[in-house]
Amino acid sequence: MRDNVALAEAARASDEVALAFVLDPILLRGERMGAPLVQAFFSALASLRAELRERGSELALLEGDFAEQLAAFAARIGAEAIYYNEDYEPDARERDERVRAALEASGIAVRASLDHVYFGAEEVRTESGAPYKVFTPYKRRWLDQHALAPRLPVQSNRASAKKLLARGEIGATRVLPELEAYGHAPSAAYPTCDEASARARLDRFLAEGGASDAYAVRRDLPALDGTSRLSPDLRAGTIGIRTCVARAYAAMEGASVQRRASLEVWLSELIWRDFYQQILRNFPHVARAPFVAAAAAIAWRDDEAAFRAWCEGRTGYPIVDAAMRQLNTTGWMHNRLRMIVASFLTKDLLLNWQWGERYFERHLADADLAQNNGGWQWAASTGTDAAPYFRIFNPVLQGQRFDPEGAFVRAMLPALRSVPTKYVHAPWQMPPLVQRESGCIVGDDYPAPIVDRAATKARVLAAFSAALGKR
Ligand SMILES: Cc1cc2nc3c(=O)[nH]c(=O)nc-3n(C[C@H](O)[C@H](O)[C@H](O)COP(=O)(O)OP(=O)(O)OC[C@H]3O[C@@H](n4cnc5c(N)ncnc54)[C@H](O)[C@@H]3O)c2cc1C
Repeated sequence: MRDNVALAEAARASDEVALAFVLDPILLRGERMGAPLVQAFFSALASLRAELRERGSELALLEGDFAEQLAAFAARIGAEAIYYNEDYEPDARERDERVRAALEASGIAVRASLDHVYFGAEEVRTESGAPYKVFTPYKRRWLDQHALAPRLPVQSNRASAKKLLARGEIGATRVLPELEAYGHAPSAAYPTCDEASARARLDRFLAEGGASDAYAVRRDLPALDGTSRLSPDLRAGTIGIRTCVARAYAAMEGASVQRRASLEVWLSELIWRDFYQQILRNFPHVARAPFVAAAAAIAWRDDEAAFRAWCEGRTGYPIVDAAMRQLNTTGWMHNRLRMIVASFLTKDLLLNWQWGERYFERHLADADLAQNNGGWQWAASTGTDAAPYFRIFNPVLQGQRFDPEGAFVRAMLPALRSVPTKYVHAPWQMPPLVQRESGCIVGDDYPAPIVDRAATKARVLAAFSAALGKR
């Protein structure tokens, strides 16, 4: 209810407001939403409903065809206008246009608000009015625009407080369904979202002495709790992007040089989020194809067994396997690890980035088409601002650099618990005696590597240079 632009605008324009959410059974059951994301959404809805009930109102839960459901709800409560927050996903835009046309035809006004991003896709443009394709100049322009006209968090909570329609007037509404109703299994290990916890997480992260102090260096270390962990809340809307940006700037005031530098890096990550959102909105083809057209010619391998090994964390490369275990068991993965596993899938295994993108969609609680697609295309060297294809992450060196004691891989992969640090990121190099002593026989207790990286490097470079030329 806080920092929600559509709610603030509805409350500004009307004497009474009611909140509704339409469940889309096709989307909820479909290929693109996995249990972690559905659980995050449902927990956010449950907390919103609880808050509304405390205030004597109700969250109307509808299910089925959006236009029909909303028209019927509007007729029931006598609403003249519907306010919603824009969604940049191509399918959502198509749906929203269809719903708008149907509602307007039945005399209901429809108003879209910009809420999910800080600056909209048309607001940060080059001198010639074109969308940016490269992050650094985009960020510069974003910062200039912020300096001129910052977007403050909107007071939607306060604005709507005395205008919420009473529960009795909203009438009976369906109960929030269980995840199982849509074919998903819940887990206590997946993130849940509610506004109070999201605000507390932001407070903790930004407090002096909190993780923001050394974010610039610790954000890359997966064994530490060095990032905000706000991505599921930013996805579900239980924290507003304007709140995060305003709080980051406020924390910079009077901060030490080191702390300020860390806060600037964190702000940069929030700007990356806006950047990928505007890429999706301005270049919607990225949802189904590479950003760079020539990359469509990359001859990806068709190796289902290798893909399954990657999904299940059985590649024999500990940092990759530990990362996939983190994803599969908790519904979240550390950013450094997302880059490592994406590079491994697309380069070392030479498998299509879209396979990985789809797998992440189904397993991340923060799954967001814009960010996920941007991250995958960056790692696969097919996207805007992408990593050059010949820069291939070495999972052993990445592990040694960002998990130097092996604390993260040991925590995720019990078979490696007693492996000496020297071998923990390359267990196949352990002499047989050390394997026996550490209780980790490679090929038995822990898999042998599924690819010999030295041997596959030439295959990757050939496939990429054939499609993209020698860049
Ligand atoms: C292959 C790949 C897939 C990804 N898929 C997603 C996804 O589906 N959803 C998602 O929210 N993020 C995605 N990211 C970006 C990033 O990994 C997560 O946002 C981050 O790990 C979330 O943790 P946090 O909230 O603790 O981040 P923090 O480090 O605290 O950052 C704060 C916020 O900034 C934004 N952010 C951080 N890093 C990035 C980034 N690289 N790109 C865009 N926004 C960023 C997120 O909203 C994040 O919550 C992906 C990255 C890669 C490489």
